[in-house]
Amino acid sequence: MTTIAGNLQTVRDRIAAACARVQRPASEVTLLAVSKTFGPEAVREAHAAGQLAFGENYIQEAVEKMALLADLPLEWHCIGPIQSNKTRLVAQHFAWAHTIDRLKIAQRLSEQRPPGLPPLQVCIQVNVDGGATKAGVAPGETPDLAREIAALPGLRLRGLMTIPEPSDDFAAQVAVHERAAQLLRDLREAGLPLDTLSMGMTADLEAAIVAGSTMVRIGTAIFGGRTRKPA
Ligand SMILES: *Cc1c(COP(=O)(O)O)cnc(C)c1O
Repeated sequence: MTTIAGNLQTVRDRIAAACARVQRPASEVTLLAVSKTFGPEAVREAHAAGQLAFGENYIQEAVEKMALLADLPLEWHCIGPIQSNKTRLVAQHFAWAHTIDRLKIAQRLSEQRPPGLPPLQVCIQVNVDGGATKAGVAPGETPDLAREIAALPGLRLRGLMTIPEPSDDFAAQVAVHERAAQLLRDLREAGLPLDTLSMGMTADLEAAIVAGSTMVRIGTAIFGGRTRKPA
């Protein structure tokens, strides 16, 4: 077994154990393999071990990687910040964008999504723990933004995404993730058909799943430590 295949199995076991702990079916949680900074060979290895969904932060790097992997049926998720001048690449190449934090970016993605492709699946990035300089929409501003995005053609609003501040305390991790879960419930009660909570990384995937995550974004535990910045 290759290292990546073994690591993937370990992560799947972690997901299953976390789901079991709160009696959720493991099928409710999608594993996104975060392949940023790793080359196409690493993605191929993960695919050979059964992984189909990959997350990338750096849009230009991701698009180059996709071209080298076009022979594989992979699903690409944009999980990095999206500047206005990168929306076209995201609209043309990705299946999902997790980091929408303003209407203008959503509008550009909507306009630029090629008509031949299925809608771009999108999540709103929420600043659940309130860091002043952090990316993401304030929780209180999320309902209005969600309603506006849900009305845009070419996009399908699926839910919320968070990147909380790291914490070593499990209960504190769960408490922050539960705020996002509550916000998703509020939006659903307000009539938005959302089903996705993109939260949980290598260090906090168990806490995220306990709180209701439906998509964990895992890099280090699958591919190892990142030693370089992308070119
Ligand atoms: C890098 C990254 C991840 C993966 O983080 P790990 O700690 O390596 O699992 C997940 N989400 C986002 C937004 C990231 O930038």
